[in-house]
Amino acid sequence: MRTAQRVAQRVARVKPSPSTAAAQRVRELKAQGRDILDLTVGEPDFDTPDHVKDAAIAAIRQGDTKYTPVNGTPQLRAAIADTFERRHGLRYPTDGITVGGGAKQIIFLALAATLDAGDEVVIPAPYWVSYPDMVLANDGTPVIVPCPETDGFKLTPQRLESAITARTRWVILNTPGNPTGAAYTADELRALADVLLAHPHVRVLTDEIYDEIWYEPGQATSLAAVEPRLTDRVFLTNGVSKAYAMTGWRIGYGAGPAELVTAINTLQSQISSCPSSISQAAATAALTGDQEFVRRTVAVYRARRDLTINLLGDIPDLSCTPPSGGFYAFVNCAAQLGKRTPSGDELRTDEDFAAYLLESQHVAVIHGAAYGSPGYFRVSFATRDDVLTEACERIGRACAALSFP
Ligand code: PMP
Repeated sequence: MRTAQRVAQRVARVKPSPSTAAAQRVRELKAQGRDILDLTVGEPDFDTPDHVKDAAIAAIRQGDTKYTPVNGTPQLRAAIADTFERRHGLRYPTDGITVGGGAKQIIFLALAATLDAGDEVVIPAPYWVSYPDMVLANDGTPVIVPCPETDGFKLTPQRLESAITARTRWVILNTPGNPTGAAYTADELRALADVLLAHPHVRVLTDEIYDEIWYEPGQATSLAAVEPRLTDRVFLTNGVSKAYAMTGWRIGYGAGPAELVTAINTLQSQISSCPSSISQAAATAALTGDQEFVRRTVAVYRARRDLTINLLGDIPDLSCTPPSGGFYAFVNCAAQLGKRTPSGDELRTDEDFAAYLLESQHVAVIHGAAYGSPGYFRVSFATRDDVLTEACERIGRACAALSFP
């Protein structure tokens, strides 16, 4: 029976983000006075740089406190165009760029602007938790393609080819990826592009929000840069949240074909009118100002990555492919499953394993199934060295206490 209180089916289809749920559980346990080491956080632990804050304060003082164009201020779009040119040698016209309340909103709008009921979106797993739910919220059908660790957690041309159907609207690539830190090389992107060139009805959304947090030689590569013949089918998204420690300012952006960007702007004009004028001034300062903050913090993340990988690597029956970018490690715990805890409970799944770490050692991580890849857990190393060291020691103690039945 229909009641006045019912929610739309699209809401009923969507599940709340597992990472938000994990963060909530950590808050509850901390409120009970428990000493939790939290490795679930998906944001930098650094403060936003001062010159960025100053730009926001100046914007307030000079009255830049009104609506802006729906797709963002001309200054910010010019800064984004320059950033893409500097990074990828690509010159997007400023009307091929749109700004929103975080990359999350831009990705959601891109799907909302293009999906009809039953349209398929290819999502390689492990995936960022939001992609499948965003597709479901927009009446689409997520087509999850498992990408094993033996393939570097990356989509291969063969797997892409077999996932594409006449209903495929999008393939989502996330490079460097959350939760694995895996990144596609130019050759791997070219091989995927060869498949895509044979399927002109398929667009690619490439989410590159972690591209500045990069540990390999050179720079992270983008599909948009390696295959010019796909330019009118690639939607490139990025933002200031991660590189500039600006998660709360809520500025993300996307660049791509004009008709897609126009459709996104049409929706945005009825959703938020525009992103915050003050945050846009701050984001402009972040992109055009001194990049020393990025260099300094990436050096810190790199040291934390090495520390975490080394400490976890010493624990028997855990293993981890080092991330190329981002601030997460995706740890293989499959060899721990089937073991028993000291209280006699069998750890059947990665979710059991994460719950055991939390209950027995007060270390919070997110289980791999949340990212579409059971048998793993994600740790964030966007936290202090002493927390990482202590957390890895506790994970080691938790593992050492397990035994086979
Ligand atoms: N993409 C990925 C892969 C992410 O991990 C995140 C943040 N967790 C986002 C997009 C969204 O970032 P924001 O909305 O803060 O720009």
